[in-house]
Amino acid sequence: MIPFNKSYVGGCELEFIRDAIESNTLSGDGAYTKRCNSWLSKELGSQFPLLTQSATAALEMAALLADLNPGDEVIMPSYTFVSTANAIVLRGAVPVFVDIRPDTLNINEKLISGAISERTRLILPVHYAGVACEMDEILRIARIHKLLVLEDAAQGIMSSYKGRALGSIGDMGAISFHATKNISCGEGGAFLTSNPEIAERAEIVREKGTNRSKFFRGEVDKYNWVSTGSSYLPSELNAAYLAAQLDVAREVTKRRLEMWERYNSEFLALERAGVVRRPTIPPGCIHNAHIYYLILPSLAFRTKFIELMKGVDVSCTFHYVPLHSSPCGVEKGRLGSEMSVTEDFSERIVRLPIWPGLEEKQGYIIKSCHEVIQKLLSRKENY
Ligand SMILES: *Cc1c(COP(=O)(O)O)cnc(C)c1O
Repeated sequence: MIPFNKSYVGGCELEFIRDAIESNTLSGDGAYTKRCNSWLSKELGSQFPLLTQSATAALEMAALLADLNPGDEVIMPSYTFVSTANAIVLRGAVPVFVDIRPDTLNINEKLISGAISERTRLILPVHYAGVACEMDEILRIARIHKLLVLEDAAQGIMSSYKGRALGSIGDMGAISFHATKNISCGEGGAFLTSNPEIAERAEIVREKGTNRSKFFRGEVDKYNWVSTGSSYLPSELNAAYLAAQLDVAREVTKRRLEMWERYNSEFLALERAGVVRRPTIPPGCIHNAHIYYLILPSLAFRTKFIELMKGVDVSCTFHYVPLHSSPCGVEKGRLGSEMSVTEDFSERIVRLPIWPGLEEKQGYIIKSCHEVIQKLLSRKENY
């Protein structure tokens, strides 16, 4: 079976982990965390990056830092991972779900203004598949209504929008280093901000609400409980693994992009024939080939496609069940627009395997996709 995803191993992970063990500092914020933070700062242009245990943790930090109160509203897509909404709901705030664009499956910026109320505090765009949302327009709306912007850039490492790295464009951003992401340490993430006032509070929130980081820098003579917080920093073991991964981030991205381009050219004819739709990359966006997807003709077609691909040992998967129709989303959220694109596309999307090391099998995957699609098109059930 060809797996849908496989984590890439750069080569120096064990060496760095051994070094972390021998240095006898396994708790957070040691040399490897600092090394990762400076990589993030240099490569993403974020002035105050902080390594976290996950993107979920970074989103929760951001929700605390935004001072959300019960009843406050946050505008986000429904087509996203649960962590985007959980971070908001954990503060008692209300996710307001807005439909996505059919081309990128990102939040439809034209629907945001219509979802704003007097309780709106934050806009939370998600860069799906590492392809940027229309950030200029989102920032413009945020400025007019005095709202904060938090980017869920969990999938967006090495992607950019008009030259700016995803996650470093809004007031705050979250990156994921989960095993399913392009660059990973199993479970890991980063909180990004370039706002010094937010950065100062972020450091405290991440360290259980204490000013311990200031203490370690010698800026205060003892450390204190100064605000509400939690523990969001990862162990040096994770940071050591991640440091080795960041060293090869460029190479990993290049290999993924080559595979992405190959899929994209091999499915052009099917798109022209009106059978599938391929991903769209808007001008000004550089993406990281996190996902290669196709939009198939129907839900029934997709179900059969995944089943038949499994029959030839290729693991393909669907993606999010829209949050607005999930039990918790119905209870805790509200609709900020109609949801036709979300409902339609979430039923028809299929993701194909893409990971460095899969190159020699890609021809077989593409051939199998074509055969399965032709087979389904020729059946009289007419999916
Ligand atoms: C993966 C992902 C997350 C969660 O990342 P973790 O690091 O696993 O917490 C959040 N949002 C989106 C859009 C994701 O893809």
